[in-house]
Amino acid sequence: MKRILLVPILLIFVIGCVTTGPGGKKSLILIPTETEVELGKEVVKEVESTEKVLNNSEVQNYVSKVGRKVAKVCDRKDVTYSFKVLDSEEINAFACPGGFIYIYKGLMKKMDNEAQLAAVLSHEVGHIVARHSIKRLQAIYGYSIVMEVALGEKMGQTARQMVDAAAGVILLGYGRDNEYEADDYGILYAKKSGYNTKGMVQLFEKFKQMEGKPPNTFEKLLMSHPPAGDRISNGNKQIQKIGGTALPYYESEYAAIKAKL
Ligand SMILES: [Zn+2]
Repeated sequence: MKRILLVPILLIFVIGCVTTGPGGKKSLILIPTETEVELGKEVVKEVESTEKVLNNSEVQNYVSKVGRKVAKVCDRKDVTYSFKVLDSEEINAFACPGGFIYIYKGLMKKMDNEAQLAAVLSHEVGHIVARHSIKRLQAIYGYSIVMEVALGEKMGQTARQMVDAAAGVILLGYGRDNEYEADDYGILYAKKSGYNTKGMVQLFEKFKQMEGKPPNTFEKLLMSHPPAGDRISNGNKQIQKIGGTALPYYESEYAAIKAKL
């Protein structure tokens, strides 16, 4: 009798173990990709009802092009990545479940080369690869409820709560360990797509300078991420391991776009 019960449970674990990082790293993920994408689309609706997407196709296309380059070398290919610039001075970027990535114009204005932009976009791709928002939802709601929602046909009340929780996780950040993990993956993907890996650390140096005198727009980023100094040392460790410091930064390409912000 017991054996009968064991089969579906084992099946769930076999199906649920998916690649969530470089080197074939695996995690137990029970929310199917289609459900994650559906969840993501709901979060996107919320984002785009409160934030304005930047109305400049040249800037949008440029950011999409850089984003596609890093997404192409990442460890997760079962979602379509999209990259959009939001028309706000906020200094931040975030990833919604299912591959929908946003960066604020305010953060782009702080950058001075394409490698820094690639670093931010690949950090966000890293969150998607590692399924950070999905892991958080599994932790909050437990596997059984998550499975119910995953197997259910309609977006019920629980599903609605999960959308809200997913949006909350994105706004509050994923916690230190997840941020370091996304930084590590981001630096690796930046290298694999041909960008100087120091782009990420250059940005953290800027953030560190801003920490002393934070304008309002920077406070959210400070709240949601580990201190810049710690991210610099973590980033440098990853760079020492994988190299990529002789790759280009693409400064003039970025300057031309920055002038349009
Ligand atoms: Zn992050």
